[in-house]
Amino acid sequence: MERTELPFRVCVVALWLLGLGVRVYYQRKVRGVTRTGARGVRRDTILYYVVFASYLLPLVYALSPVLDFAHVDVPAALRWAGAVLGVGALALFASTHRALGRNWSGVVEISHRHTLVTSGPYERVRHPMYSALLATAVANALLTANWLVALVMVGATVAMYLARVRDEERLMLEYFGDAYRAYMRRTGRLLPKLWS
Ligand code: SAH
Repeated sequence: MERTELPFRVCVVALWLLGLGVRVYYQRKVRGVTRTGARGVRRDTILYYVVFASYLLPLVYALSPVLDFAHVDVPAALRWAGAVLGVGALALFASTHRALGRNWSGVVEISHRHTLVTSGPYERVRHPMYSALLATAVANALLTANWLVALVMVGATVAMYLARVRDEERLMLEYFGDAYRAYMRRTGRLLPKLWS
């Protein structure tokens, strides 16, 4: 391993472990929640694991030389910008989990006593957790400076997002009706609305 790669590898592993820690912590809190109105569970479950598998690639980059063939020269400043983006994405990921609480699910469905969350990171954006996952993919692409990591992570996350987002919004509309319709009008999907 090149010495200059080491700080990036350490950073990738640290962000990875913290992200996993956040997911495991909040996943434990939804244990025992009963669900209804699930949509495309099979598809969502497959995509969940595809995204999870894609998130293993940066670990492979960090812990072994097998992905070295896909290295691209990226200026160090840009790679460190990726680290900053990664920290921001991690903080956003944690705050979306915290805000969703027991409404969170790995698939598109309604939980028993589901409430519509419109505060915190949900105040101006409807899918801030997907924003955080996309930002994490871009952050890892920059940090690893590896085209294969970039392609697989960004590709898997975008595919998951595109496959789910319409069904998710349709389900929320069915369940929350006008409250969600009004919420849609004042929010953007991945970024805050610049005009309304
Ligand atoms: N798409 C959201 C949530 C991802 S978790 C985001 O990116 O932040 C997926 C689950 O969250 C879905 O099963 C859906 O029922 C639930 N959900 C989505 N938006 C919600 C909201 N504003 N309030 C409560 N639950 C929501």
